Amino acid sequence: MSQKIFSIEFFPPKTPEGAQKLRVTRAALARLQPKYFSVTFGAGGSTQSGTRDTVFEIRREGHDAAPHLSCIGRTRDDLQALLAEYKEQGIKRLVALRGDLPSGYGMASGEFHHANELIEFIRAETGDWFHIEVAAYPEVHPQAKSPQDDLQHFARKVQAGADAAITQYFYNADAYFRFVEDARRVGVEVPIVAGIMPITNYSQLMRFSDMCGAEIPRWIRLKLASFGDDGEAIREFGLDVVTRLCERLLAGGAPGFHFYTLNQAAATTAIWQRLNLSA
Ligand code: FAD
Repeated sequence: MSQKIFSIEFFPPKTPEGAQKLRVTRAALARLQPKYFSVTFGAGGSTQSGTRDTVFEIRREGHDAAPHLSCIGRTRDDLQALLAEYKEQGIKRLVALRGDLPSGYGMASGEFHHANELIEFIRAETGDWFHIEVAAYPEVHPQAKSPQDDLQHFARKVQAGADAAITQYFYNADAYFRFVEDARRVGVEVPIVAGIMPITNYSQLMRFSDMCGAEIPRWIRLKLASFGDDGEAIREFGLDVVTRLCERLLAGGAPGFHFYTLNQAAATTAIWQRLNLSA
């Protein structure tokens, strides 16, 4: 079990209260001894400085921290300066993404259009300094032309120099296993860590899933809807579903999990402990 990679994701807080709350969350989750904490960038309007400040704070606390870095709408100069700063601060790991422009922005702006171009740029600028994680989509990226096309583009990111991948969250283990099989068939050998989204809030989960293309199986959706406002029942059911998903993934050879915590400690801690991941 100890060879597996278990990591934890936060988003950068926007207020001093949010920052304080995240410190408490982080202290609780640090006890689980994850391999690293990652911090998103841009999602929900978060800023570059929010990601940077949070990552540096995590580093100062003595943990490994990985900033997410998205390239859409950014310039080479801007990215070059940020990479130099991360390097100077001893950051060794990045999650490299295309990212999404806020609606209303043209996709043609910026010097990068896809994540593979960003990875090539990072490798050209900084050699092997960074361990680079990229995104993978077992249920297919929502803008992909076809599953085959998406898989080829995923393979391009690895050819460009990615060391590992983290998947979008999903609740269908078969989609993950099939994706890994397909990736191996097209020559991708890097670890494909499963992204895990604990279930704690029905409407929030539906909203996120609509945006990112993750499918909530009908039986899970109907069950969650049937609990109405009973938050305790939703959390208990969610814990059971996600723990069983993780058990299946581990039994089927998943190399690790990346937990999308949404800056909450309780659900991730409960799943982690049920699975005995720190052992
Ligand atoms: P890409 O790999 O570039 O793919 C995007 C689309 O373009 C796909 O449909 C693909 O098939 C296609 N494509 C890829 N390469 C090419 C090419 N060379 N030519 C033509 N088509 C191509 N978003 C944020 O804003 N901030 C975050 O911090 C963040 N963190 C994330 C972390 C993880 C683990 C995951 C899974 C997603 C994260 N996202 C984040 C969301 C991500 O930015 C979006 O899903 C985005 O739409 C795609 O990013 P990507 O890096 O996968 O893009």
